[in-house]
Amino acid sequence: MNPSPRSTAIIGSGIVGLAHAWAAARAGDQVTVFERSDKARGASVRNFGMFWPIGQTPPNLATALRSGELWRELSSALRITARPCGSVCVVDHDDEAAVLEEFSRHAPDLGYSCELWTREKTETRCPGVRPGVAKAALFSPTETNLDPREALAALPLYLSEKFDVRFHWRCPVTQVVPGKLQTAGGSRHRFDRVFICSGHDLETLFPEVLAASPLRLCKLQMMRTVRQPSGWSLGPMLSSGLTLRHYDSFSICPTIAAVKSRIARDSPELDQYGIHVMASQDRDGALVLGDSHEYGGDIEVFDKSIIDSLILRELRKLFDFPDWSIAERWHGIYAKHPTAPIFRAEPLPGIHIATGTGGSGMTLSFGLAEDFLLSTPTPA
Ligand SMILES: Cc1cc2nc3c(=O)[nH]c(=O)nc-3n(C[C@H](O)[C@H](O)[C@H](O)COP(=O)(O)OP(=O)(O)OC[C@H]3O[C@@H](n4cnc5c(N)ncnc54)[C@H](O)[C@@H]3O)c2cc1C
Repeated sequence: MNPSPRSTAIIGSGIVGLAHAWAAARAGDQVTVFERSDKARGASVRNFGMFWPIGQTPPNLATALRSGELWRELSSALRITARPCGSVCVVDHDDEAAVLEEFSRHAPDLGYSCELWTREKTETRCPGVRPGVAKAALFSPTETNLDPREALAALPLYLSEKFDVRFHWRCPVTQVVPGKLQTAGGSRHRFDRVFICSGHDLETLFPEVLAASPLRLCKLQMMRTVRQPSGWSLGPMLSSGLTLRHYDSFSICPTIAAVKSRIARDSPELDQYGIHVMASQDRDGALVLGDSHEYGGDIEVFDKSIIDSLILRELRKLFDFPDWSIAERWHGIYAKHPTAPIFRAEPLPGIHIATGTGGSGMTLSFGLAEDFLLSTPTPA
């Protein structure tokens, strides 16, 4: 007689929860997801949709590349948007060009595949780059432009149809003890193990564990333009030299110090709000623009128009898009671990907390969940 499958509960239907649900279901578990809202409404639908390995350092780079294989599998099964367009970091200062040159020398040994582009090549391949301003650019082929709203809506349907994963929407979980959980409606459910993937909610479940963790909250402001005219295509996703000080991958370059000190001296407002600029494109042809980073006590419920103005100012220095009209503005909040790609804890037997993917959840979650579930021993 076959033993009954292990039952696994997932709390939260963001990308971290769905990645754990998918990995557990592939391992043969009977999976049930509990989501407090009617659909995912957290960081996972508020992001750029950038699958962005170029921002990761080894060994997280390998996790990102494995996640990319899983995104490809999923996008062909679901027919969701996944443009393997790569990314281009376009710079307009000599100190930034020096970082790109230094990084591109070390990149092959570290596992990155990227190439330096001249201004001419950049302008030819990226129609949104303002003519005459680029000093150099770094092209990386590994990035993929996803549409997070589409992906986070399609994934639950796929999991329920293909793996019989059950979803309980509008169902906040208020208490978890070994072997069972309770919802706000009072229903109780029994499970062999539970993954708490509650994103930046550090207050509802095991607040004492999360308060004692090194997790920090970060708020990001974002904008979306109207649909660009006549099927205009962004080509590769774009970032600017400001991004070099944001991603750990470039910290291997001693030349980054000059970029950081120039920006601190000449544009302290960019450091104050943690601004670096990037652009992706959604499936309808609108451009997604951002972003800023405000931490901890600086986080307010009210968005700052100065931040939006600074983001647009910096984007316009380098890019010239056909239509800059802003159709939507929003903010997202994520929890971030200062050094690890994810925060994990097991406060009680069989109860696993998984959150804190910071700005890399769309890039790392599938690989992180698979790594963890394959290495977790099955209880006797
Ligand atoms: C503006 C912005 C841009 C970003 N851009 C990128 C990017 O381009 N590329 C990239 O790789 N990453 C990006 N990120 C990071 C990425 O979005 C996050 O790392 C990721 O979405 C975190 O996923 P999560 O599942 O932990 O959280 P969430 O998506 O917030 O999901 C948590 C879910 O748990 C539910 N929940 C919480 N508590 C309970 C409870 N008690 N009971 C039931 N349900 C509960 C919530 O309702 C929510 O749906 C960005 C983030 C932001 C905010």
